[in-house]
Amino acid sequence: MNTEKQTPVTSLATLQQFHNTVFGPANGQLEPVDMFLRILRYLLRVLEMVRTKETGRITYYLCTTLSWLLAISNRYNFDLELKWKLKFPNLENQNPPLSKFQELTAWNHEGETLETRASQFAEAVAKVGNSLGKFRWTHHPDFKAELLSSIVECCGALCNLASVLGVDMQTAMAGTFGDGCTKCHKIPCVGCDFNTAELK
Ligand SMILES: [Zn+2]
Repeated sequence: MNTEKQTPVTSLATLQQFHNTVFGPANGQLEPVDMFLRILRYLLRVLEMVRTKETGRITYYLCTTLSWLLAISNRYNFDLELKWKLKFPNLENQNPPLSKFQELTAWNHEGETLETRASQFAEAVAKVGNSLGKFRWTHHPDFKAELLSSIVECCGALCNLASVLGVDMQTAMAGTFGDGCTKCHKIPCVGCDFNTAELK
């Protein structure tokens, strides 16, 4: 088992791949809706921190939220980077770094508050849940496509919130998941379920 420090993040695609290597086996038993419930849990933390202005650990929760968005994407074999790049056909870099994704997905609304961006992020998470539900109930390919779009938008809203906090998600993700799992520090995770271990 490899426990050496890794550098997982360059582009959104490599991040998705790395996440699959670390958590793919451990997440094998989870249904996508279980993954979404974990996203809700971390969203709750983020919203509490924004409300109380105690944002000390918010970077960690943004990273874990993004991690679960990647987990759902991996389960459905979504290529988030490919979908995102359709909006930017003139991008020269074939695999733009996550920091570029963060820069280009910023909605460029000068003066937007932390609260506004948190609210937009919460709305984007809700849209993921709505799309996931519709696909789960119907198995219709249109809703699968909608789910992919909503996840890409949600990643954008997450990065947009990170931007107003001065957090570079590329650096943050490398810092959080550079050793693999945040609890057992293994690659792949041994199945420690770091989420439920943190329940309180
Ligand atoms: Zn683990």
